[in-house]
Amino acid sequence: MSLENNLQKAEKYLKKFQEKPVLNHINGQDMQASDGGVFEVISPIDLQPIATVAYGTKQDIDKAAIAAKEAFQEWAALSGVERKKILHKIADIIEARAEEISIIESVDTGQAIRFMAKAAIRGAENFRYFADMAPSARDGKSLYCSGQINITSRKPIGPIGIITPWNTPFMLSTWKIAPALAAGCTIVHKPAELSPLTARLLVEIAEEAGLPKGVWNLVNGMGEDTGRALTEHKAIKAIAFVGESKTGAMISKQGADTLKRCHYELGGKNPVIVFANSDLERAADAAIFMIYSLNGERCTSSSRLLIEEKIYGKFTDMVARKAKTIKVGHPLDPKTVIGPLIHPTHFDKVTSYFDIAKQEGATIALGGEPVQGMENNCSGNCSGTCYVPPTLFTNANNKMRIAQEEIFGPVLTAIPFKTEQDAINIANDVDYGLAAYLWTDNNQQALRVSDALEAGMIWVNSENLRHLPSPFGGMKYSGIGRDGGDWSFDFYMETKNIGFATKPHKIPQLGA
Ligand code: NAD
Repeated sequence: MSLENNLQKAEKYLKKFQEKPVLNHINGQDMQASDGGVFEVISPIDLQPIATVAYGTKQDIDKAAIAAKEAFQEWAALSGVERKKILHKIADIIEARAEEISIIESVDTGQAIRFMAKAAIRGAENFRYFADMAPSARDGKSLYCSGQINITSRKPIGPIGIITPWNTPFMLSTWKIAPALAAGCTIVHKPAELSPLTARLLVEIAEEAGLPKGVWNLVNGMGEDTGRALTEHKAIKAIAFVGESKTGAMISKQGADTLKRCHYELGGKNPVIVFANSDLERAADAAIFMIYSLNGERCTSSSRLLIEEKIYGKFTDMVARKAKTIKVGHPLDPKTVIGPLIHPTHFDKVTSYFDIAKQEGATIALGGEPVQGMENNCSGNCSGTCYVPPTLFTNANNKMRIAQEEIFGPVLTAIPFKTEQDAINIANDVDYGLAAYLWTDNNQQALRVSDALEAGMIWVNSENLRHLPSPFGGMKYSGIGRDGGDWSFDFYMETKNIGFATKPHKIPQLGA
């Protein structure tokens, strides 16, 4: 694998997106937007257009929601074993097309190919994992009491609206769609407008695998109208949303009139706490991986580094020394770690924190300037402006905006702490509560601190290692609900209880 090789493959795989507009897919049919509207997608590599995409209207959402409603009865009634077969077939085809998916994803998002290759395979794993759970999805419990046996069962809730963000769209879409389909729900997917291409590949793969028409509908468009229409549609019973916290709040309001069940996976400002007694080399490698991989455009990125005061200088020097050698470049170059940020507006947001850090009195220990002259650094065409180097802010405190706000780029804020309680207080003193990372060699300290941290997921002496049966999700402004294992089915299904009398108990006779 080389950049030249990958550029040739990109040209081949992008061709079909460039030849004609990317259409919506409703009830098994490719469709233009009802008013013929389109929007343009640019690649963050060079800011050149790579596709024109149908801009779905409220009418298109309505058609898709009705199609999902009509397909629901049959899909929900299909045995779990049959659903399992189709979902495994989807995984097979994803694996067979993994190269195409990862290259398109890389060009569409700017994420480095070394990570996107794994994201495609992880998408297949998501389908396999939930496929295997499909046959038992409806299982429940028997609960005994004197005179009654209660039997619970679960039923798929109905058509689901799935709304996904731009950062790792393929993997995240499969993470929401696979359990919804395994549970017996049908879906309408509205991908992010900034990187919608692999969502189109996914729906094609699903139907090639034999998914009945209407079960999976795809409508592209912007959030404020296409996305909004989906959240307001009466036939849509629940919204599975991944994106920003403020968008989650808007969706709650938009879905209020139709009493939408909502699952939110939102933003984060995740701490990595490093005690002096820990393995500092490993802690530094893990912290660097969690903030500088995936361009730092990652909800679980370790964007706040809380370091015990006595090792603060030594540890930040170590992080800066290691991170300095990280390669920023063309995302299709296998050596690249940090590719271009998704879009010039996001680049402006991320780089605005360089000035904010200076104004707040922090020190820029590494990076802090947009990368210039990318056209000379890559052998491919990357004349774009979206390249940001690994950046480290030191001498920061937790009151600063660089410590409180989700920057969503390769930007790390290092804050010293004195005591264990200080570390906990600083870690918890943000609006978010998605993930936290803890480095200590003391088991009791690990238990005490992890118990006190306000985060949905905590990794001790580790970077983020995903395990699909374990719960994934956040507290506070980071989300509502959990994915993973049976937690996913709790969201996509209704639990029913049926009470059977086991003896003729005395029934109160009123008015007799
Ligand atoms: P975003 O909230 O701007 O957009 C996400 C999706 O919501 C897009 O498809 C968008 O079109 C749609 N949308 C926007 N406004 C809408 C509205 N009013 N009604 C319905 N849909 C609407 O988020 P983004 O910028 O695409 O993604 C980055 C954010 O996602 C970050 O905050 C990141 O932390 C978060 N994220 C969270 C997780 C997680 O698992 N917790 C994972 C990945 C990303």
